[in-house]
Amino acid sequence: MGKRVDPFDVGEEKIDYNKLIKDFGTESISKVKNLPKGISAFEKDLVFSHRDFDKFMDAVKKGKKVAILTGANASGSLHFGHKLTFDSVIEMQKKYKIPVYIPISDDESYVFDKVKNQKDGLKNARLIAAQMIALGFDMKLTKMFIHQQYTDIYNFAIKLSKKTTNSTIKAIYGFNDSRNAGEFFYPIIQSADILCPQLDVFGGKKHVMVPIGIDQDPHVRLSRDLAHKLDLIKPATYHMKFLSSLQGGGKMSKSKEGSAISLSDDPSKAKKAIMKAFSGGRDNVEEQRKKGGQPEKCVVYEYLEKFFEDKKEIKKRFEKCTKGKLLCGECKKDLAKFTEKYLKTFQAKVKKAEKNVDKYLIK
Ligand code: SF4
Repeated sequence: MGKRVDPFDVGEEKIDYNKLIKDFGTESISKVKNLPKGISAFEKDLVFSHRDFDKFMDAVKKGKKVAILTGANASGSLHFGHKLTFDSVIEMQKKYKIPVYIPISDDESYVFDKVKNQKDGLKNARLIAAQMIALGFDMKLTKMFIHQQYTDIYNFAIKLSKKTTNSTIKAIYGFNDSRNAGEFFYPIIQSADILCPQLDVFGGKKHVMVPIGIDQDPHVRLSRDLAHKLDLIKPATYHMKFLSSLQGGGKMSKSKEGSAISLSDDPSKAKKAIMKAFSGGRDNVEEQRKKGGQPEKCVVYEYLEKFFEDKKEIKKRFEKCTKGKLLCGECKKDLAKFTEKYLKTFQAKVKKAEKNVDKYLIK
């Protein structure tokens, strides 16, 4: 099997979101007039593109039947990149009382060689389930399942499989014939996940929204095509901007050491990675004091803005930085302190949630 290339690994360059909108044939979020108010992902400009999100918000505001579908593959612990998307879903759920569906794809991790065996996939999936609970989803309004355990999803996938062809999968995903058969079937399971909130067992036809990174958009394209064939409502989506690698440039990647902070990282390990993070600082203190730093290029600033500081606090930091009144070591210490505190509290919640996982999983 050939080496997979990550089109978003752009090295030191910044990601060109306008180009992604053109390449994927989506719409800019800036054109949506009915964006939800008070949701930090939109307030902080973390979403750049969408498909039918305006129609979804219209349905929400008119009190029609709606749901949000999110999820994760079980290759390991969730990380801060995932947290960004899930936080936006939790805020939407809380504000509009929207039911949320969370499938956890241990089968994807297995067929795409991200885990050694199915047992490890299941173990990771159960950790992720506990992490989802700890993140703060309203579990009364949330349906969560692990593919290995909720096998009804495969019955639906079989039905969907007759509505598409291998050539469609090849065209959407760029697969060639050397892929294993599971990789060809897996997109159908993803579509089954995305469309399952519209099954009779879950209350029938409704507007479903799937917030994702744009690299996952092929799944939404396929499920929209299948929805049309099954007379279901085409799912909507919004695309989150990527979280930068701590080392700078390009998006963070779990496979690169020091690039990402996992939600199960030892807080002291996270601190070490942050203290080595890429900043927008100048070559020396003298120059920094004279010219000021470059927060627009700074990963430390990006993490503080996205996760820990409100508009007022981050504006103050921006001004101090650009006026040369702040040194990078101070920001790194602040980010390390916030992250350590967050991880300690979060991991204590996960430990507690692990005891209740079975209570919340559909089987
Ligand atoms: Fe970034 Fe802070 Fe350095 Fe400015 S002072 S470049 S915000 S780390």
